Amino acid sequence: MVDLLPVVQKRADDDGRRHLLNVDFAELQQWLAEIGERPFRAGQIRQWIYHRRASDFAAMTDLPAKLRQRLSESFVLFRSTISSEQRSSDGTEKLLVRLADGGEVECVLLRDGNRRSICVSSQVGCAMGCVFCASGLDGVERNLTGGEILEQMLWLQQRLAPEERLSHIVMMGMGEPLANLDQVLRALELARTSEGLGISPRRITISTVGLPPAIDRLARYAVPYNLAVSLHAPNDELRNRLVPVNRRIGVEAVMDAADRYFAASGRRLTFEYVLLGGINDTPECAAELVDLLGRRGSLLNVIPYNPVAGLPYRTPSGAAISRFREALERGGVNVQFRQRKGSEIDAACGQLRRNRAGAEFG
Ligand code: SAH
Repeated sequence: MVDLLPVVQKRADDDGRRHLLNVDFAELQQWLAEIGERPFRAGQIRQWIYHRRASDFAAMTDLPAKLRQRLSESFVLFRSTISSEQRSSDGTEKLLVRLADGGEVECVLLRDGNRRSICVSSQVGCAMGCVFCASGLDGVERNLTGGEILEQMLWLQQRLAPEERLSHIVMMGMGEPLANLDQVLRALELARTSEGLGISPRRITISTVGLPPAIDRLARYAVPYNLAVSLHAPNDELRNRLVPVNRRIGVEAVMDAADRYFAASGRRLTFEYVLLGGINDTPECAAELVDLLGRRGSLLNVIPYNPVAGLPYRTPSGAAISRFREALERGGVNVQFRQRKGSEIDAACGQLRRNRAGAEFG
């Protein structure tokens, strides 16, 4: 008797090939040995990926044709595609990257003087629920793999002229990096080592809503990445409303964990503060921030709100922003007001994905 098996639709990402960016170097060497190739080929392949900006195996012209064929039978180099892109007049480029399972994330290249900074996502969606942010409006779908995080970096690197190099990375795209710390650290290891992208950890920033156990894990990991903590409010009453995950943590625990990270890493802390008109831009908030941050010597990065369609928040007026800034400066807070680079192209996290989804389904 013949069992009738259900017909399983073969998905494009399910053809048995592995994502090479998720394969360790030692594993690749072993695979090469198994097919009778010399192990030094692994180093050549890695160079093609990170230094020579190859986008497929066919481009790796100093590998034997037979090896290139075997590679493309067993591995996929890029599993994602670029489903939409925008470029603003200041040189900012934003990509919407479609993953093999159909999920989408955003990443951005910012050109500023000699700097070539990229902003990368760590999850599809986000579970933190910050009420003003487009990324978390539908919750989190899943974590990205280290390879999917690296792919965003490589796509953006391909946007550079041959003589240009990526100089800075911020994990400030969609998702909460500290809720996917293992995969973020795997990707960043290749971002920072000379065999990979060779970007010093001092030029790499991990931005978090403030999850103390994960901050402590990062401190023990002992690579001096910069830590940015998204504070957005100086007290629990307000932060619980704006950053719902705070109800389980509290401002004090977040500040203590940040202090421990500073003690362990020696890296000056940054706090992020999205300025929402009429909500967290009051003189009382400024005074509380002075109490909280004045003695810490950390940097406060104030970001005027980038409006998200359908959300009831607004950017403060220029006068309100100036008042807020003066109060902080008088109180001795190290404050920096970020200009809204790329805002004309939805370059605030989650917005491009959302606007496209709206255009398709709305
Ligand atoms: N989950 C991490 C990193 C992603 S968001 C974190 O919370 O830090 C990166 C920064 O952009 C955060 O400070 C976030 O609060 C801020 N942000 C989100 N939506 C914004 C918007 N519409 N306008 C301005 N900043 C926004």
